[in-house]
Amino acid sequence: MNLVIRSVSKTYGNGVRALDDVSLTIPPGMYGLLGPNGAGKSTLMRTVATLQEPDTGTIRFGDIDVLGEPRRAREVLGYLPQDFGLHPRVSAEAMLMHFAALEGIAGRSARREVVESLLRQTNLWDVRRSKLGTFSGGMRQRFGVAVALLGDPRLLIVDEPTAGLDPAERVRFLNLLSALGERSVVLLSTHIVEDVSELCTRMAIIHEGRILLETEPPQAIEALAGRIWRRTVTAGELERLEAEHRVISTRLLAGRTIAHVHADGAPGPNFEAVRPDLKDVYFSAMTGASA
Ligand code: ADP
Repeated sequence: MNLVIRSVSKTYGNGVRALDDVSLTIPPGMYGLLGPNGAGKSTLMRTVATLQEPDTGTIRFGDIDVLGEPRRAREVLGYLPQDFGLHPRVSAEAMLMHFAALEGIAGRSARREVVESLLRQTNLWDVRRSKLGTFSGGMRQRFGVAVALLGDPRLLIVDEPTAGLDPAERVRFLNLLSALGERSVVLLSTHIVEDVSELCTRMAIIHEGRILLETEPPQAIEALAGRIWRRTVTAGELERLEAEHRVISTRLLAGRTIAHVHADGAPGPNFEAVRPDLKDVYFSAMTGASA
């Protein structure tokens, strides 16, 4: 079952055009929506989650008209927002039992069963009696996923879930999402290229409300082969390089600046060919070089 977004646009009251004619077809599996802060990711995620309406456009999930039948859509979707409040003095288990009742899971023993399975799946079983206020960032995010999974969603929307997680928590969290991607559509928004390269089978790059590229990561990387070059530069050289070439990014390595340049052939004698990665794809798209 695909999520099909067609010509969705949204301009806020202050005149910001957060989404500009966005069309995407999102198949089952992990799908990454990658873009910098302010690109329009949260606006799109909230719109798909039926929490706000676009000015124009349509969204379908299988045979559900998401914008026209928001109640039906809510029955099959789970949403993990960027920020969510948790009751600090309630245990994870008690809170989930409460949400399970709100979700309409009838009978205490049925609720217990569902809650136990979710706590195990999100690796929170051992801390189920701990108060939510004592949870680390990663534990909070995994608890958020447990809540989002309560209704057994076929469409899971996760907005910037790895921001603020330490590396070990991030890996644990991404592994959890990856397991979920095996049976549903998981739409993940992020500004972290590694989230997408490690996890997603398909992706889109969004910038200023527009989709710059929709692709499969290996395909996009392959399309850049032979077109990324690198050189170590000083601050003074960088300015000249930027004037003469399409510099897509600069990275610091052991205190030295390394510039990546997009060009069809070697830009000069001191350049070294680079085997491109998804960061090069991202920065090429963001600086307008065709990927
Ligand atoms: P992202 O999630 O990629 O950071 P957002 O969808 O949050 O992007 O924001 C896209 C643009 O819309 C930004 O310029 C942001 O300032 C603006 N924006 C977001 N929400 C609102 C709102 N409720 N009212 C006005 N402008 C908003």
